[in-house]
Amino acid sequence: MERDKQHIEPKITLLGAGPGDPELITLKGVLALQRADVVLYDALTDEALLNYAPKHAIKVYVGKRSGEHSFEQDAINKLMVDYALNYGHVVRLKGGDPFVFGRGYEELDFATSYNIAVTVIPGISSAIGVPGLQQIPVTHRGMSESFWVITGTTSSGAVSEDIYQAANSNATVIILMGLKKLPQIVDIFSVAGKNNLPVAVVQNGSSAEEKLVIGKVDSILSKVADAKIAAPALLIFGEVVSLHPSFTKLIKPYVNIA
Ligand code: SAH
Repeated sequence: MERDKQHIEPKITLLGAGPGDPELITLKGVLALQRADVVLYDALTDEALLNYAPKHAIKVYVGKRSGEHSFEQDAINKLMVDYALNYGHVVRLKGGDPFVFGRGYEELDFATSYNIAVTVIPGISSAIGVPGLQQIPVTHRGMSESFWVITGTTSSGAVSEDIYQAANSNATVIILMGLKKLPQIVDIFSVAGKNNLPVAVVQNGSSAEEKLVIGKVDSILSKVADAKIAAPALLIFGEVVSLHPSFTKLIKPYVNIA
C-alpha cells in the first residue's frame, strides 16, 4: 500500500516474543504489534503472534535457519531501516529476549545511526523461562546462588572459555546453542569432577513439540541420542535439576549401578 511519505514517522520496536508459546509474550508486546506497520519476525517466534498485527501490516520472515536460504544480519539491519523509513512503525519480533544472544544491540545500534527511535520491549528468555516451565528453578536457597547463561557456540566456533570456569563453580549453568557441542561440554564437566551432576536438556521448550531429557553428566549423551533431541534445545547443568519431579525416578538405575 502506498503511504504518504510526509506523514511517516519511522520508529522501531525491538520486541521479545518469549520462548515459543505465543501466550508468553508481554501485554506491552501485544500492544506494540497492534500498532505495527511492518513486522520482521524470526525463526523462533510463533506465527500466531502475527494475528495481533493489523491486516494492512507487512509481515516478513527474516529467520536464519541453517541449510535454508537465510538472511545475513546486515541484510536484516538494512531491511528494518528501509521499512521504517518507508512505512513507519517496524516491530522487530525476536525469539526470547532481544538481548540474550539475539543480536538485538546490533539492530538497535544500526537503527540509531539513522536517527530512528528504537524502543525495547523485553521478552521471557528461553534461558530462564524454559527451565521454569519444567519447574526447574535457576536458583534455589541452599542449592544454587547464581546462574550463568552461556553460548555453546561462540562466533569463532570454539567452545566458550566461560564454560570451563562455570563448570568449576557451584552455579547453575544454562547453555544455549550448545547441542552440537554437547560431547565437548560433557568432557569439560567431567574433567571438573562433575560426573554426577544432574543435567537436563529441553528441546522446543513451551511449544507442542517440547521434549525433555534428564540425566547426569555421565549419562546425558546417550539419553539425548536415544531421544533424538534436535535444535532448538538448551542445556541445564546444576544441582537444581534434581528438583525436577521425575529426577529421582529417572536417575535411580544409574545411582544403583554406581
Ligand atoms: N534470544 C533468545 C535466544 C536466541 S539464541 C532467548 O532469549 O531465548 C537461540 C538458542 O536459544 C537456541 O539455539 C536454543 O539453544 C535456545 N532456545 C530458544 N528457544 C528455545 C526453546 N523454546 N526451547 C529450548 N531452547 C530454546
